[in-house]
This record gives sequence, structure tokens and C-alpha cells, in this order.
Amino acid sequence: MVARGSWAHAAAVGLLAGLLGVACSGEPDARASPSRARNLLIICLDTVRFDAMRAAGFVEEGAPRRTWSERAVRLGFAHAPAPWTVPSVASVLTGRDPLGHGAGVFSRPVANLDDEVPSPIAPGVPTLAERLTAEGFETRAYVAHPWFESGYGLERGFSHLELEEGRRRLAGKATVWLNWHTAEKDPKPFFLYLHFMESHANLTWKKGMYKSRGMRLTPVTQEAARAHAPAGACDDPGSSACWHYVAYVQSVAEQLNSIARVLTTLEETGLLEQTLVMLYSDHGEEFRDHEAAGRARGVDPRGIYGLGHGQSLYEELLHVPVWIWHPSAAGRREEAPVSLLDLMPTALDWLGLDGGKELDGQSLLPWLLRGAPAPAVDRPLFATRIAYGPEQAAILRGGWKLVSYGQGAGALFNLVRDPGEHQPVQGAPVLDVLASQLAEWTARAPVGTAPPPSLSREQLERLESLGYLGGVPAREPEPAPQPTGSD
Ligand SMILES: [Zn+2]
Repeated sequence: MVARGSWAHAAAVGLLAGLLGVACSGEPDARASPSRARNLLIICLDTVRFDAMRAAGFVEEGAPRRTWSERAVRLGFAHAPAPWTVPSVASVLTGRDPLGHGAGVFSRPVANLDDEVPSPIAPGVPTLAERLTAEGFETRAYVAHPWFESGYGLERGFSHLELEEGRRRLAGKATVWLNWHTAEKDPKPFFLYLHFMESHANLTWKKGMYKSRGMRLTPVTQEAARAHAPAGACDDPGSSACWHYVAYVQSVAEQLNSIARVLTTLEETGLLEQTLVMLYSDHGEEFRDHEAAGRARGVDPRGIYGLGHGQSLYEELLHVPVWIWHPSAAGRREEAPVSLLDLMPTALDWLGLDGGKELDGQSLLPWLLRGAPAPAVDRPLFATRIAYGPEQAAILRGGWKLVSYGQGAGALFNLVRDPGEHQPVQGAPVLDVLASQLAEWTARAPVGTAPPPSLSREQLERLESLGYLGGVPAREPEPAPQPTGSD
């Protein structure tokens, strides 16, 4: 069964009753020591759903990934503001929700990332890397996702960005650079961003390889994977569906091994004491959690149901892992509702920089370090930007979740009683409140949408290898310059 303890816990302590009118968390009561706050490392594990991270991290006694897992502050109810890479990572790197950064908008009423290039981050929206470059930081990115080289604005502000395939090469680049940086005479503070892609590839794996991939895990971790599998996926432990999920967990485990290597380098070089490290996933992945519901709605332009991401706003796509390593924070699990939008305010807070009023999230450091109250359990979290189908929008608040399909009332779920979102609730009094709040959010004037970038044949091929944009024509090659003569 999927472990979704957060809202059950909230219900147990009676917090759901406070749905209306409860204040948000307080202001910081003290500042972190500025002499220690210096560097920032943000790591993305693309396409990792929450339950898979739990299964991958904790089983192997004495393994580096378990040691580092236990040292992390693990946020048990973190949410992505969008169900696919471009709008979600754009939110992390701008601190603004999808309406505020403008990325991931399709021109047609039915989105289809197979045959249309959506909008990039709007040009006037600043990025974290731009901000930190202006503050004198060394800003570097080692990324495995071709969106970063495709003109989407995710690359903006990095003084050095390399596209690298494979977790070992990514981690190797990072560790080599960290060692080199440490040896510098007067090193600048740094912002290092890493983006891993091994779990994203699960739909391209040959079915015949699921079991051999899964068997790379030790038996005890295989068992943990089956225990955390989506409902029904491992009813038959020998089924292809179950081995697919176990293999997916194996991909998470091997990425955590690589991240453990980077973190160990940080510690060995003495940088860990000065560095805030945040690990997140940009969205989850469906393993047939809502295949029947998807087919019943029948709106995916590809006719694909039950697999992948970008097609819905169910929890298997929005509930993501966020782990934080901080010199002053002991490893533990926390359950308050947080958003990927909180990462940038948290980073700026750590570095002693003002985030301004433009950011949509909130710093988590007052809560995690300084004794301030946790984000309120009824804090509203929003999501939107479908990649396949008509647009949707969702609000999560106080254990309830309302998904709007753009017409009618949408579907209301009680995540405490129905964490798998299979039984829409009719006629609950909370519906009007949530519908009104969601309508107010979606009616906000969005930032201007920039035209989609035109992509070269090589850029398109790299995205096509991930399953995107198969029907999009490449940009015409630039005409060769005419000889101008030499006389
Ligand atoms: Zn992604």
C-alpha cells in the first residue's frame, strides 16, 4: 500500500477542524549565523514519486545512501505545482507558481506535448541563478535533461551549464568541481544545481528487462519496494507491473548512491558546514493508479492511460519527496504541507538575501531551525499545467483536494479517508470554499506568455528520446553564409 501518513496524522490530532481562518506560520525569531551561510546545492531527481523515495532510501544497513537519508530533514507532504518538468522546475528556479512564471502553456485548448512546443519562462521573470550571479556567486549546473538546453529559461543565469547523461558522470562532474573549488585560493560562494534523469527513463525500458533491473536491488530492498508500491501494482509479486515498479525503485536507489557520493565529497572538503542542500523531485509518475478514471474521462490526445506524467493532477504526480541537509538540522521526518515553491525563499533566507514580495512560497528555515510554527495544516497548495489534455487546476487544503476540469464543479477528494483519490465526495460543505479559492487563484492575471522556442533537429531528437515532441518539425537550418569575397 502507498504510505500516505501525513493527512491521517493531521486528522488524528484534530487539525482538520481548523480548515477556515487559521493563521500561517510566524516570522523568524532569529537569523541563522551569516558567517556559516555561504553555499547552495539543489539536486533534482526527475520523475520520482514519494513512495518510491521512501522505499529506496532506508533499507540497506550501513550503505551511504541510508546514512545520508537518515541525516536529511525529510518533508513528508511536499507538493509540486505542476505535473511535468518544465512548469515544475521553472517554479523551483523562479520561486513563482505556474501562473507567475508563464512556462508550459500550450496555445491549443487540448495540450499535447507530443506535437506542440509550449511556452518558456516569461522573459521578465528573474531566476534564482540570475539573482545569485548578480550577488557574486559561482553558478554552475550539471544536468541530464535536454529542456535545459532548449531555450526554456531554465538555463538562465548559470555561468556554467553542462548537459551530461548518466548519474555517474553527473556526480563525477560535481565532485571534481567541488574538489577544484575547495583548492581555489579565494573561492566564491557557489550555487550548484544537479538534475538526474534515471527514473524518467522507466517508460523506455524493455518489459523483459524489468525483473533483471529490479533484481539489482538486494532482496530486502525489493521487499520494501513491493511494500510501498501503488495499490494493486504488486498484488501479484511476479507480475510485469510489479517488477516495473521495483525496477523504478532501483533507479531511485542508484541515484541516491550517486548523491551520497556528492554529499560525502561536500563533507570531506569541509563545505558541508557552509552549504544548504535541497533534494527534490519535480513530479511523480503514474503506475496505473488512475488508469480506469483516465479512460473514463477519455481526454488524453495520445490515448495513453495509466502511465507516465503530465496527464493529471492526482497525488502520484504531485506528492514528491523533498529532503534538506542543513548544518544545524538533525535528520527527521516532518509532515507539514510544503511546496516546491518554498525552495527558493528557503535558499535566499539561508544566504541572507531578501526574496522580495514576488515569490509565491515561504522560507522553511524559521520552522526547521528557529522554532517558528510549521506551515499551517490548512495552507492552500495549488497546481496546474497539464501536458496532455484540457487544462486542469487543483487546490489541496486541510486534507481536502479539489480538482477542476474547467467545467462543472470538478472532483473533490478527502485525502484522509481516500488517499488514493478513487471516491469523489459529493455535497461536502467545504466544496464551495475550495471552489471559490481555486477560482480566485486561476483568475489571477497570468504573466505574459512568451512564444515557444524553435528547436534544432538535434534538440528535438534529444527530447524525442524522452517521449516528447515527436510530431514537431525542427527549425530550418540557418542558411550558410555567402562568401563575401576577399578583394
Ligand atoms: Zn520531470
